[in-house]
Amino acid sequence: MTDALYLAETRQRTFEAHVERALDDRVVLDRTCFYPTGGGQPSDTGVLRDPVTETTWRVTGVEKRDTIHHMVDGNPPTAGTSLVGELDWERRYAHMRYHTAQHLLSAVLLEAFDAETTGNQLYADHAHLDCAYPRFSATDLADIEARLNDLVAADLPVEWYVLDRGEAERRLDPERTRLHLLPDSITEIRIVEVVGPDGTAYDRTACAGTHVASTGAIGSVEVVGRETKGTGEERIEFVLS
Ligand SMILES: [Zn+2]
Repeated sequence: MTDALYLAETRQRTFEAHVERALDDRVVLDRTCFYPTGGGQPSDTGVLRDPVTETTWRVTGVEKRDTIHHMVDGNPPTAGTSLVGELDWERRYAHMRYHTAQHLLSAVLLEAFDAETTGNQLYADHAHLDCAYPRFSATDLADIEARLNDLVAADLPVEWYVLDRGEAERRLDPERTRLHLLPDSITEIRIVEVVGPDGTAYDRTACAGTHVASTGAIGSVEVVGRETKGTGEERIEFVLS
């Protein structure tokens, strides 16, 4: 199994690794900082470089299958090759900001509207989130935006850690962590926690994505629209600057 370095250290943008397997258009590495598409967060892109031959491969996508697969252009490097990987950092950092903002939005919607998040998709320059709610008014959206920007201004710490599933189910609020959405095969849960001003958790969610270390790094949040996504379901669109 590839050691997924991004789960512990989200700020690392370069790394050294060995090729474990080379397939037609992709490689499996022994360790990686490249995030694979999942949880509404797009994969990282970047380059892999062989420092001996100075050959470089563009990483065009990353997928989680049996383990993490890096799609590369051209003939992939062969098994055993030592490589240096480098992420397209601007893109990844934008994903981290958007993903953290999405956690805050999910928490605010639950807190203020009892609206549970049902889906989300983020990009490097915009994002949307779906939730169970009949319809938000313009005032609701303005209130949501103001609350999000208050949470950014408070610069709350964001922490992540792994819990045994049984412990997670005993200790954490099931509505907020949404552990019931995870397949039974998952026995260790990665928790992402936004720490409130009083030191207790403002929000805790089971999530394998990458996030910034404090809410201040998110930047200014603008709620740019809403649309109906079906009976009792709303989509909220937002951008960061
Ligand atoms: Zn997340």
